[in-house]
Amino acid sequence: MSTNVAIDHDVPSRDSSPGGPVLVAVIGPPGAGKSTIVRGLARANGAPVFRLRETIRARPGLLAGLAPSPDPLGWVSLEAVRRVLIAAFLGSAYAADPVVLLDNFPGTAGQLNLLAEIAGQAGRRLALLELTATAATAVARVAERRVCPACGPDPHAPAEPATDDPELCSSCRAALIRRTSDVPRLHGLRMARYLANRPEIAESAADHAIEHRTVSADDDLTAVRSSVNAVLSHLLTTATQPRGRQP
Ligand SMILES: [Zn+2]
Repeated sequence: MSTNVAIDHDVPSRDSSPGGPVLVAVIGPPGAGKSTIVRGLARANGAPVFRLRETIRARPGLLAGLAPSPDPLGWVSLEAVRRVLIAAFLGSAYAADPVVLLDNFPGTAGQLNLLAEIAGQAGRRLALLELTATAATAVARVAERRVCPACGPDPHAPAEPATDDPELCSSCRAALIRRTSDVPRLHGLRMARYLANRPEIAESAADHAIEHRTVSADDDLTAVRSSVNAVLSHLLTTATQPRGRQP
């Protein structure tokens, strides 16, 4: 287990954000286990999860008039991201939520700059929680990961395999499949993009005085969860509103 804050096992609760509402952006390489970790944190804190693509799917009108994304990984333009962030955080969607978790967002420094600007306008604090993982961890997690094509609307939810047949879904017994984005070519592209963007994201966080903590995801899931809980608990106390970038 490796983390840069002291570990305590207090599970943070809804009222543990005395400094005002806070957005916690969770980033990390593909295969670090972000979605699983974020779902656990969301349950433990009664916090909603913001996902860029899910919001776009739910509210396609937000992108009216914009050209469709030509990107092979489906990334959308900064203008599209701006519209989604304004609708999400300056609108009523999360107005009553003291903590919102952002799953796998921002993906670029440009996206973080927009998020910082809009969090500032919304009077929300902002923190960055980064999972780190070695290439070996990421490749192993991705190779193991299966989803159920029949259960639930969330294509990122890892499926629970049946005890008598690990190839089948435990709840509906449909054959489990790899996530489309986990085929090796796409995973490689996502990893390369993450590694290319990560240094500038960290730089942008520093420019905005956004608290940025890292947690190693190389341990087993229980240990990673415990570390992440401790770091989140810390961030809920110490996060501040982003400041404008220094010239
Ligand atoms: Zn199923």
